[in-house]
Amino acid sequence: MGGLKPYIASIPKTEIHLHVEACVSSVSYHQLMDKYDIPHDSKSDKLIDFSKIKSLKSMLESFYFVQSFFREPADFLFVAKDVVEYARRNNIYYIEAFASPSMVLNRGLISFDGMFENLIAGFDDARKNVGVDVRLIVDVSRSFGLENAMKNLDLLIAFLKRTRIDTILGIGLGGQEIGHPCADYEAVFAKARNEGLHVVSHAGEEVGPESIWDAIKLLHSERIGHGTSAIMDPALMEHLKETQLPLEICPTSNVITKKYVKRYSKHPIRALFDYGINVTVNTDDPVLFSVDLNDEYDNVATELEFSQAEINQLIRNNLMATFMPEKAKQARLKKLNKQLLD
Ligand SMILES: [Zn+2]
Repeated sequence: MGGLKPYIASIPKTEIHLHVEACVSSVSYHQLMDKYDIPHDSKSDKLIDFSKIKSLKSMLESFYFVQSFFREPADFLFVAKDVVEYARRNNIYYIEAFASPSMVLNRGLISFDGMFENLIAGFDDARKNVGVDVRLIVDVSRSFGLENAMKNLDLLIAFLKRTRIDTILGIGLGGQEIGHPCADYEAVFAKARNEGLHVVSHAGEEVGPESIWDAIKLLHSERIGHGTSAIMDPALMEHLKETQLPLEICPTSNVITKKYVKRYSKHPIRALFDYGINVTVNTDDPVLFSVDLNDEYDNVATELEFSQAEINQLIRNNLMATFMPEKAKQARLKKLNKQLLD
């Protein structure tokens, strides 16, 4: 470890754009494949060649493949365990993570309640025993149409009414952005907001700035997932600066899916930050992209010349962009300011 990496690793952090299914370790894959008698080479820890991922479409294919290993509700305990392990490895004490029920429900083996009861059981245990707090955002998904997204929201509302669990904070819109505009999901987001749920949306990852405008104006997203294409629209840049609406930037993910970012050193996070936009750093899919949060901050420092003071600002931005209750957030900020070396 050189440069800022040991310092970054030493700072307790938060993360707000992470998909739980993309945190599952190869050890867990092996165990699940053994459990279901799926033939595999148990000596290889590279079960799936994620280096083939070259676009959002191929990333989603890998994502669905990974999900096919979950065949009974308790399998989601593996997912929870690996998310917590990822958090501990990166000195993360608080995560707001997406969980995507669509493919799981479409396979018909696991119910919405079965999936979330197990994830939450795993995360409750981690909160009590290891001090890692993982909250969830249900990705209603834009890949399977309005009816499917509305069904996911209705299942969530019923689940929350029944259990009164506060681990799930709201809904998000993930999946294939091309051909599935935010505008199609206006009714889902309006209903979620009416229920008092937080709402966030992936936008501007593989579609231009118009997708980000829609996420803001039509969905009233409280944060934008990625938002990379904002750099192409000066009026949007100005709006984002003025409102300080947080962007959940995932640099490695954008470099690998190759839509608007050709090289790490050309990632617009540098220009967005310099303009005064509220940007945060996240990993999106750590196992699929083979990146940890500590690496991601380190890459931003080395490839995009973020100074230690600027890295500190990114870490602060991430905490302030969480949906943590205001009192807890301010207490955490006070603590963080003592830990950061400016
Ligand atoms: Zn994402």
